[in-house]
Amino acid sequence: MNEITLKIKKKYANQYIQGYPLLTKDVLQSLPELKEGTILRLTDENNRFIAKGYHGNQNKGIGWILTHDESQPLNQAFFTTLFKEAFAKRQSFFHDEATTAFRIFNGEGDGLGGLTIDFYDGFLVLQWYSHGIYEWKKMLIAALHDVLEPRGIYEKRRFDDKGQYVESDDFLTGEVAPEPLIVKENGINYAVYLNDGAMTGIFLDQRDVRKTICDTYAVGRTVLNTFSYTGAFSVAAAFGGATHTTNVDVANRSIPKTREQFSVNGMDPAAHTIMAEDVFQYFKYAGRKELSFDLVILDPPSFARTKKTTFSVAKDYGKLLEQSIQITNKNGIIVASTNYAGYGMDKFKKVVQEAFTNQNRRYKIVEAFTLPADFATRKTFKEGNYLKVLFLEVA
Ligand code: SAH
Repeated sequence: MNEITLKIKKKYANQYIQGYPLLTKDVLQSLPELKEGTILRLTDENNRFIAKGYHGNQNKGIGWILTHDESQPLNQAFFTTLFKEAFAKRQSFFHDEATTAFRIFNGEGDGLGGLTIDFYDGFLVLQWYSHGIYEWKKMLIAALHDVLEPRGIYEKRRFDDKGQYVESDDFLTGEVAPEPLIVKENGINYAVYLNDGAMTGIFLDQRDVRKTICDTYAVGRTVLNTFSYTGAFSVAAAFGGATHTTNVDVANRSIPKTREQFSVNGMDPAAHTIMAEDVFQYFKYAGRKELSFDLVILDPPSFARTKKTTFSVAKDYGKLLEQSIQITNKNGIIVASTNYAGYGMDKFKKVVQEAFTNQNRRYKIVEAFTLPADFATRKTFKEGNYLKVLFLEVA
């Protein structure tokens, strides 16, 4: 790879010396036209070495720091070591027979921003977040094979400017995975598809939330799962003894996918309500029919436009909560989740508080979650911990 030396502005030098991993345009004295993938050697204004990284355009920045050691070559051996360290940290996951799907490499949290790797029962799904990191693909896959013998490898290229997935055949090498591939999480089966667009059927970062719903908040309860996708939260709830689940997602595909998630656990999908409907339309319907639930789950995408509504977490989460509060039974639980990068946990808690105040209702936070252990994050990059989940007991 080509290398170029760039200068970090004086007022930003310290943050990089202390380990902040993300490079943005504004911290550089100047950023010439560069081929993505170029190695960036960064110095302060007095030409003192600070760090080395690479150039790759993502919506959040223009590249990532990889090392603070000037003599460290950015070669295959370097990445082999990174992968080895990452996999060593996850030994408990590799040895847990009840859980066969988890993240084995989490971007900057494991020392290489722009790449994540998920493990699905021996198969790997790599996600590339820029053209720049994709330039390093051959070496990175060779490094991966130094440390692991996967059954097969799939990739998701998410590098148009907004991190959108590029529609393609995602199979890369090795054995082709069965469709569906059945993975386990805390003893529950989930059907996943490794070559079916951007998403696989399960969001691995919600593992601890599913477990908590199953172990503590499901027994004897009725559940409304909004933005339900493949119904993963509902399956966990049903496993934990929920009496009934209602699944609402605007996408038609979520009906067969949700049925399948119940079926692969030997549960009868017909015992549950599974609907293709806009959540906001459903709230109106539930209001008319005076429906109410003991456990309401809210895990919307940060932004979505349907035929009937446009939803953004930034503008509408409060409204979503208020409508949920109205159909949650006394002493019921609302699971409020978001991965919206614009909200930290504090801001999210404020939104919750405001919604309850508007509805003139009281609540107690009974559980709070951020990313699970396999989604490693680092102290110097708090924004890498994007997940916020609150369990709210409605008084
Ligand atoms: N909570 C899910 C993941 C949700 S993914 C889980 O943990 O598995 C986001 C889902 O929201 C998608 O399936 C999408 O179809 C759905 N969606 C987006 N806007 C919606 C709306 N207005 N009403 C209902 N579903 C919506």
